[in-house]
Amino acid sequence: MSQESQGVLSAYDWLTKLYHHLLRYTKDGKEGYQYMKDRGIGDEAIETFQLGFAPNVKDFVAEFLTKKGFQQQLLVKAGILSQLNDNDVSDRFRGRIMFPIRNHIGKTVAFGGRSIKEQEPKYLNSPENELFQKGKLLYNFDLAKKHIRKENEVVLFEGYMDVISAYQADVKNVVATLGTSLTEPQAKLLNRYVETVIICYDGDNAGLEATYKAANLLRKTGCSIKVAKLDNDMDPDSFIQQHGSDAFKNRVIKASDTYMGFYMRYLKMDFNLKIEGDRIKYIENVLQELAMIESSIEREYYLKEISNEYNISIESLTSEMHGYRQKQG
Ligand code: ATP
Ligand code: MN
Ligand code: MN
Ligand code: MN
Repeated sequence: MSQESQGVLSAYDWLTKLYHHLLRYTKDGKEGYQYMKDRGIGDEAIETFQLGFAPNVKDFVAEFLTKKGFQQQLLVKAGILSQLNDNDVSDRFRGRIMFPIRNHIGKTVAFGGRSIKEQEPKYLNSPENELFQKGKLLYNFDLAKKHIRKENEVVLFEGYMDVISAYQADVKNVVATLGTSLTEPQAKLLNRYVETVIICYDGDNAGLEATYKAANLLRKTGCSIKVAKLDNDMDPDSFIQQHGSDAFKNRVIKASDTYMGFYMRYLKMDFNLKIEGDRIKYIENVLQELAMIESSIEREYYLKEISNEYNISIESLTSEMHGYRQKQG
């Protein structure tokens, strides 16, 4: 590791402690602490995730870290300070609750900061560098690892808040991609540790699209997948806040869909099933996908389901599907 990276790591380490201290023990941190209470984040989670607060002061951090002997130039490069002009800097994160982003051995390699007022952007991250590439890292992987091994399952979320809420609900085999779609290095990392990935993205259309992409990438990588189902206006965090941990475990995690069940739901976005022509195209698309499913039990299960739902004989559905199977060789 370069000397510069070592300096950055050390600055992030100080900063993790500083933000956390401000949140827990100072007047400057009160509004951040209150925000967390309002969102149901308890003290134990604040400790576990070393959550913090960056006060809305121009150069609180600048002063603190400079006094510790860090060069201003390094701090600017690390995205801790912003260069305003030739001889003026300010703290990059201001008036935000701070999520340290830890690498796989638990060292802070970046921060995510969420604004607590309506300030844009809602989330601000540290820039990428030698230590932090967001496509190679999964949030909370370091703490989740032992739980992932034990359960032989991992739950994949979109965001920090989902991870923290699930953790508080005692579902600890959880990680998040930080708002970007799942990448190949992340999929491979999961595949090395676990057999089954439960994708639990936000319930909106963007979440469904991202689920489709992640599901196929994971399947290509060799993972089994399941897909949790959330209403359109829900994400895992809001579900847990509204319905509690038992409902989350039983109605979301345990009740998650097979890939095919998800795909049928996903495909419905593109068709108006009240129209006959759309209905037929929908069924053809489902059969095409079904043709690629390895398990003959699973294929038959869904053939029966479609047969019942759309009142088409099993025979014609089966022969259509076999046509697709032959085409793919
Ligand atoms: P909250 O519940 O606090 O609104 P969220 O996690 O539900 O947060 P989403 O909008 O669902 O937020 O985004 C999911 C994740 O995507 C966030 O946790 C964050 O990691 C990332 N993200 C969202 N917006 C941005 C942004 N503007 N810049 C960088 N990352 C972002
Ligand atoms: Mn503490
Ligand atoms: Mn969300
Ligand atoms: Mn949310």
